Amino acid sequence: GWDDIGGLDETKNAIKSAYGLALARKPEGVTIDSWRNFLLYGPPGTGKTLLAAATAGSLDATFFSVKVSDMLSKYFGESTKLISALYATAARLSPSVIFLDEFESLSPPRGSGDSGAERRIVSTLLAEIDGLNRKGSQDLIITIGATNLPWLIDTAILSRFQKRVYVPLPDAAARRIILEIFIDRRGHDTQLSLARLVERTAGYSGREIEQICQTAVTHMTQRANPDLMA
Ligand code: ADP
Repeated sequence: GWDDIGGLDETKNAIKSAYGLALARKPEGVTIDSWRNFLLYGPPGTGKTLLAAATAGSLDATFFSVKVSDMLSKYFGESTKLISALYATAARLSPSVIFLDEFESLSPPRGSGDSGAERRIVSTLLAEIDGLNRKGSQDLIITIGATNLPWLIDTAILSRFQKRVYVPLPDAAARRIILEIFIDRRGHDTQLSLARLVERTAGYSGREIEQICQTAVTHMTQRANPDLMA
């Protein structure tokens, strides 16, 4: 849910208003498709997956989480079949949110030679993202791409995402909420004040803050069970 994500208020609001618009009834005669595809980019561990999952949760949508590299198969034709099957399933279970992580894997490294098979994979996925095969259908499929390496993505592919949103490292206010999520809300207490922890975690991602909290809990558990390690 949205409450499990610390900070990123602007990002959350951008997503909520976008989907409010996508789902809203259009005035009579208005036929323009609202945009429904997002690209989230920024450092790893900053909540991109969480944002996609919260979007699905808030829309009561089926959530598909896929690494693009996992869809790329060496076997000719397999990747395009996988992509079509993914979108066909999402249409059947509509409304759906498809989260495509490591989106940059779709663009082959420059100078690596571009094969016909690779181009077919890209064009199949872009057609699905654009919803070309579903024109006129009522199915709602939202594609959310995510990447830590946006500069590797081809501009033609980038342009398919009407909305590109930067997901930054958490600032002090966001770190405070993330620390509260992993300490207070789990019923833990710390000797160091929250303000000090916020200071000491400057530059950390949400995932790194979570890992520190997990490490602290592991140490507590070990101290409470000295015989465990004997
Ligand atoms: P990304 O997709 O950007 O690499 P994730 O969304 O998978 O990162 O985040 C990894 C984990 O780190 C999450 O499961 C969550 O536990 C924690 N995390 C990251 N950012 C936040 C945040 N803003 N609020 C709460 N937890 C966070």
